[in-house]
Amino acid sequence: MGNQQRVVVLGGAGFLGSHLSERLVGEGHEVVAVDNFITGSESNVEHLSGTPLFSLVEADVSDGIPVEGPVDVVLHFASPASPIDYLEFPIETLKVGSLGTLNGLELARANDARFIMASTSEVYGDPQIHPQHEDYWGYVNPVGPRSVYDEAKRFSEALVTGFRTTYGTNTGIVRIFNTFGPRMRPNDGRAIPNFVRQSLRGEPITLAGDGSQTRSICYVDDLVDGILALTRASIPGPVNIGNPHEISMLDLAQWIVKLVGSSSETVHIERPVDDPTVRRPDITLATRELGWEPQISAEEGLRRTIEWFRTHPDVTR
Ligand code: NAD
Repeated sequence: MGNQQRVVVLGGAGFLGSHLSERLVGEGHEVVAVDNFITGSESNVEHLSGTPLFSLVEADVSDGIPVEGPVDVVLHFASPASPIDYLEFPIETLKVGSLGTLNGLELARANDARFIMASTSEVYGDPQIHPQHEDYWGYVNPVGPRSVYDEAKRFSEALVTGFRTTYGTNTGIVRIFNTFGPRMRPNDGRAIPNFVRQSLRGEPITLAGDGSQTRSICYVDDLVDGILALTRASIPGPVNIGNPHEISMLDLAQWIVKLVGSSSETVHIERPVDDPTVRRPDITLATRELGWEPQISAEEGLRRTIEWFRTHPDVTR
């Protein structure tokens, strides 16, 4: 972004929110992170607390956003995001994806700010077309266990669209595909931190089903680039941001074991209900409208992530 902006990052103490905050502060913007630490942690932004450009407000954004003064951008990245988390906090997830989004939109509207909502590839559900482009409406079970997350995100997208068409709020929706990197929690159930933690400890790698299901994995620095490109733009989206590099969970597990240099074996566990079979973003729109495409190979990203987990042994316990 150009001139110094004042950016409110909802969920700023989470995995993605902390990387966004770090980049924005690094570029000289003022960041107010708002978080209730339900799945995030103050330690994710500890390194920013020394700068006057950064502040952290503890609040549940579903109840309100206690931020005074002018705001140029609102980034809504508050929501439990991994299946383990949103299944533990189903009502909180539905609230933050409805009331939290409403409060964020009201803040943006009152300030004439740009509002970016972190949506997800989960809005495509267990997709019937492959790869997924933005015009695909998805295949979601509205009453399945994952619906608390998927449908909250779909509702959020509708609410964001309503604010744009009704009030002219400057909104943008980003559909994020699986992203990984430092500061993921090793026990949050997501495949990469799980496999890395198990490999580093020489424990068996727990693979859901036969491991033939695929995901496309994006390194966090690339994702941050894409989100900030959408923030600078004025298009509404939705825009897919993710890395089209698609890999089966079995290949991913074996790759991580090899990169770690571990002797871990693979054990098969039951596949979660409604677990998508395939996932790959069509990023034509992001490339055309935002000039964005990922720069960091999956291997380089995995190396950096493994290094981080290796040098932060306290989090792998
Ligand atoms: P995360 O759990 O690390 O971060 C979410 C943050 O939001 C946490 O710090 C949490 O404490 C905070 N939060 C949750 N509910 C809140 C509330 N009511 N009030 C205030 N703070 C609240 O997860 P993440 O991976 O960083 O995901 C961030 C956003 O990106 C989420 O909206 C998620 O749905 C979306 N997303 C992430 C991915 C991914 O691969 N990481 C993929 C698709 C979408």
